[in-house]
Amino acid sequence: MSEHLAARGVSKSYWKGKNEVPVLRGVDLEVEHGELVAIVGASGSGKSTLLHILGLLDAADAGQVFLDGSRIDDSGERARDRFRNRSFGFIFQFYHLLPELTALENVLMPLFIPHGVWSYLGRRRAYERQAAELLERVGLGRRMTHRPAELSGGEMQRAAIARALAGQPEVLLADEPTGNLDAKSGEGVLSLLRDLNRERGLTMILVTHDMQIAQQADRVVRLAEGRIEEWSAALA
Ligand code: ADP
Ligand code: MG
Repeated sequence: MSEHLAARGVSKSYWKGKNEVPVLRGVDLEVEHGELVAIVGASGSGKSTLLHILGLLDAADAGQVFLDGSRIDDSGERARDRFRNRSFGFIFQFYHLLPELTALENVLMPLFIPHGVWSYLGRRRAYERQAAELLERVGLGRRMTHRPAELSGGEMQRAAIARALAGQPEVLLADEPTGNLDAKSGEGVLSLLRDLNRERGLTMILVTHDMQIAQQADRVVRLAEGRIEEWSAALA
């Protein structure tokens, strides 16, 4: 395996009035192609901040982000947008589905956005087939025309996973994807992510504070005091 996504010396502070509140203090993290890495850490330890910096949703104060060995965080805004949309898929704790749209339409959104209306209309059939296949894959073949309010939490997260895959990302970044689910649907969502990781060789970073969930990753790292440390099951 070889390095896919890496953070080197990433630092980030927030400001409360005149007080600097350091969150990340020189994070180093390397994730290999096809690896599923879990990041654990206390609430407020900076897990979401780090995930957002890795996926170019947020900028670090210092340090670098590399994809396949090339730095991606210092390119212009348009290049960063392109990396964010083409290379990364995001999954959030509260799904972030659009409530007015059906599951199918939610999955179509990321295909629609980069194309504009006319180009999208020309390819609509193909996109709809692609979106339907993804919904089948995540187990929502019979829920395509349901709106989020008509889906369970686990089903909403599955729809969000299908949406994240629609742009054919190479790295999936998941922030507490089971954090709002009961144990059983959480396990279902995790085993779906694990299967997708294996069958597609998809690189994944999974933020969680649930050790049961984290232990199913290839590797667990812990964010503490603003830095990453390798976590060993022997220490638990
Ligand atoms: P985690 O995901 O591990 O719970 P976060 O990355 O969300 O942690 O937050 C880390 C710290 O940074 C917390 O103390 C939080 O209050 C602070 N923080 C996060 N986002 C902001 C923001 N936009 N403005 C100010 N402080 C923030
Ligand atoms: Mg968080």
